[in-house]
Amino acid sequence: MHFSQIKGHQETKGLLVNSVRQNHVAHAQLFLGQEGSANLALALAYATYINCEDRQPNDSCGTCNSCVKMNKLVHPDFNFVMPVTSTKSVTKDVLSQKFLTDWREFVLANPYQGLNEWMQHIGAENRQGNISKEESRQLVKLVSLKAFEGDYKIVLIWLPELMHPFAANALLKLLEEPPAKTLFLLVSQSAEKLLATITSRTQIVQVRAFTQEEVISYLQEKHGLDNTAAYQIAQLAEGSLNAATKLTSEISSDYFTFFTDWMRNCYTYKFDKVVDSSEEFQKLGRENQKNFLLYALNLFRKVMLYGVDESLIAFLPPNELDFVQKFSKVITENNAGKLAQELNEAHYHIERNANPKMVFVDSSIQIAGYLRNAN
Ligand SMILES: [Zn+2]
Repeated sequence: MHFSQIKGHQETKGLLVNSVRQNHVAHAQLFLGQEGSANLALALAYATYINCEDRQPNDSCGTCNSCVKMNKLVHPDFNFVMPVTSTKSVTKDVLSQKFLTDWREFVLANPYQGLNEWMQHIGAENRQGNISKEESRQLVKLVSLKAFEGDYKIVLIWLPELMHPFAANALLKLLEEPPAKTLFLLVSQSAEKLLATITSRTQIVQVRAFTQEEVISYLQEKHGLDNTAAYQIAQLAEGSLNAATKLTSEISSDYFTFFTDWMRNCYTYKFDKVVDSSEEFQKLGRENQKNFLLYALNLFRKVMLYGVDESLIAFLPPNELDFVQKFSKVITENNAGKLAQELNEAHYHIERNANPKMVFVDSSIQIAGYLRNAN
């Protein structure tokens, strides 16, 4: 992984690059960010930069002996510890080492995935993964060895919050009496689940969620989505590229058109068309139905904000802006809350397996009433 392959985060990249160039690399660093953020990707790019034999001003070279190995995650001085569990193929000595091939595939396919995806990838079924006592014993042995090729041994621990308490204490000991020429990169989603004594011994690298623009550009490049689809997904993904990727396979229709037609039919009391739409809604399937209602709520929130102050709404594609402008005229203080609540309730009922067609028609009747009785 190179810094240039990660969207945005210029400031964090700059700090990381400078720490290497100025020889101020802290021996233990905590890359802290929500699931689907760039925390793992940045830690990988950082390790690659540290080991690079021909460092460029802002990034690793990508072609030296070290970069080639780092890019395949096969550099002998780059070690991984991650939560694992027994599976059909690994029934005893359940250690990270045994899952390295899986790990490489998993990370190289997409470094923004979460624990659930990892557990699925190794075939854990319903078992929980963790970082075991035995794993920490291996880690202590590992760091006592000298580096093979580079200056440093780097140990990347993914999701250290899933350490067995014994393992966490063993790691704490290592951080208190750091072995020579060893770097620990902890990649975590929740610092509050770590021992405070561990976090206090690390330098924290806060990794913010991706912005909407970054998610859009990722979806366009990586999944070849068009503007509209990428934009719709970005609104639901909450800055997570993992969520965005999953939504890409779930979202099959154009929510915007469906929503605007729906509102128009409600407003004009065209209930025959509403019934037709309810058939379409039914066909979306439950996950898509929920996603659609969340999308609707999100767009609706924009309409309300627009009504308060136009400048509160940034970054709307032209067709959506046009709709928001028109629709905001029929939304008032009086009906806004009721409409939002109706959409929320529809989502609630779909989640609890109510009949989608009935939910849709029911909501439509309520919404029609609220739209026509704005005052
Ligand atoms: Zn290089």
